[in-house]
Amino acid sequence: MTTTKAELQGVLIGLQAELEQTVVQLEAADELDDPGTGYTNHQADHATIVFDQTVNASTLNAMRTRLRQVGEALDRCAEGTYGICEECGNEIDIARLEAIPYTPLCLRCAEARDYRARV
Ligand SMILES: [Zn+2]
Repeated sequence: MTTTKAELQGVLIGLQAELEQTVVQLEAADELDDPGTGYTNHQADHATIVFDQTVNASTLNAMRTRLRQVGEALDRCAEGTYGICEECGNEIDIARLEAIPYTPLCLRCAEARDYRARV
């Protein structure tokens, strides 16, 4: 059975709720870790804390980007352009949408873009 775009929209809505929760949690964790609060004075803990903050910050950034992509995909659902590649205008493979429901690009354009990014 093939997944329909309506079902994928449902997946996106669920994903958006999950991501919003994760971002809120990471932001809260960020505040707790703030070295300005004098939370810890132990030298041995320092590397761990810096490491945690780095992970948190990069995870938080990744989650925010993902959340934006999901939001944009939901906008496209509302406009009726969901599942259409924003680069070439062709339909994106439903199998690709099942794997990455928030992708704005078909596989070919995504590969082309990655390729250009590396050059
Ligand atoms: Zn394309």
